[in-house]
Amino acid sequence: SADTDLAPLEFAVTRNLAAKSAAQREEILANPGFGTSFTDHMVDICWSAGGGWHRPRVQPYGPIALDPAAAVLHYGQEIFEGIKAYRHADGSVHTFRPDQNGLRLQRSARRLALPELPVSYFVQSLRELVAVDGAWVPSGADQSLYLRPFMFAKEAFLGVRPAKKVAYYVIASPAGAYFTGGVKPVSIWLSEDYARAGKGGTGAAKTGGNYASSLLPQSEAYDSGCDQVVFLDQDGNVEELGGMNVIFVHKDGTIVTPQSDSILEGITRDSILQLARDRGHTVESRPVTLAEWRDGVASGDIVEVFACGTAAVVTPIGVLKGKDFLDEQPIGELALSLREELTDIQYGRRDDKHGWLVRL
Ligand code: PMP
Repeated sequence: SADTDLAPLEFAVTRNLAAKSAAQREEILANPGFGTSFTDHMVDICWSAGGGWHRPRVQPYGPIALDPAAAVLHYGQEIFEGIKAYRHADGSVHTFRPDQNGLRLQRSARRLALPELPVSYFVQSLRELVAVDGAWVPSGADQSLYLRPFMFAKEAFLGVRPAKKVAYYVIASPAGAYFTGGVKPVSIWLSEDYARAGKGGTGAAKTGGNYASSLLPQSEAYDSGCDQVVFLDQDGNVEELGGMNVIFVHKDGTIVTPQSDSILEGITRDSILQLARDRGHTVESRPVTLAEWRDGVASGDIVEVFACGTAAVVTPIGVLKGKDFLDEQPIGELALSLREELTDIQYGRRDDKHGWLVRL
C-alpha cells in the first residue's frame, strides 16, 4: 500500500549491557550454522486497535513476557518474514528487495487479520537493527545475517476474533554457508497423505500454522531417506516444498513454475525468473501436474528441476521419491549458473542492474 509519505519512526534505543564481547561474537561468526545464535538486540513495535503503530524500540535481545491468554498461543494469529543482510567487500551492508518482503508481510497480515505494517516502517526496522548489530553481519563466503521479522496477536482474550493488541519484532541470526563443500542436489519426498494448503486457506501467507502442518510430512520425508518434502494441491498440481519454491527447466529453454493461490510466492523465485528472462528464456507461471513433472523427466523434455528460497538460494533436485516410485532427476547447469548470478548481485560482485540492493 502507498506509504511513501510516512515520516520515519523515532526508535528509542536501549543498549544491551550484557552484549557479547567482540571475541565471543567472532567465535560465533567463524561457524554460525543456521538459526541457533542471535545478535545482541531486537526491534519491537507495538500496535493497538486504538493507537496504531507506536513505541518503536531497539532493545536487548531476550525473552518476551506474554500473558498466558495471549491469542497467538491459542489461535496462532501470527506471521513472519525471512530476509538476509549481506556484507560487501568494502564493508558495507546491504539487503535484497526488502520492499518485496514488506509487501508480502502486508499480504500475510491481511489474510491473518493482523494490521499491515507500512513497508517504509518494515525497511526502517531492518535498518535500525543492523545499525546497532552491524558487527554481526559476517564477511565469510556465502555468509549473511538472517533477519526474522514477525508479528503476533498479544491481546489476552480467549474469544476468537482478531486481536486488538499486536506486537511486531525483528530478531537477527548470523547464517553460515548453507552448503559447505559445494551445492549438493537434494532428494524430495512426495507428500501423498498430507497437504500444506487448501483452496481458500492460508498457503499464500507466511504464517506459523503452515509450517506446523508441514512438520509431520517433513519427518515422513526424513524417515524415507529424503531431505525435503514437496506438496501437491487437491487437484494433483505441484505446489512447493516446505520452505522453497520449485522451478522446471525444459529442453527448449522454457522455464516453468507452479502458479496457484496457495503457494508462498518466493522473492528468490521472482528474482531467478527475472534473471532467466534477461538471458532470453521464456518463463511460464501456470499449474503443473505431478504427471507433467514425472512424464517430462521420463521423456527428457524436462532437463533440470530446482528449488529456491532465501535460506539455500538455489538447490538442484536430484531425486523425487514417492510411496511406490523413485525418479532420478536430470542435473543441468542452469540452476547453478543462475544461483551464481543472483549471489554475485547480493554480495556486490556484479552490477545490480535491477536496483534490488538496499544499503542498510
Ligand atoms: N515457500 C515457502 C513455504 C517458504 O517458507 C519460503 C521461504 N520464505 C519460500 C517458498 C521461498 O521464499 P523466498 O524466496 O522469499 O525466501
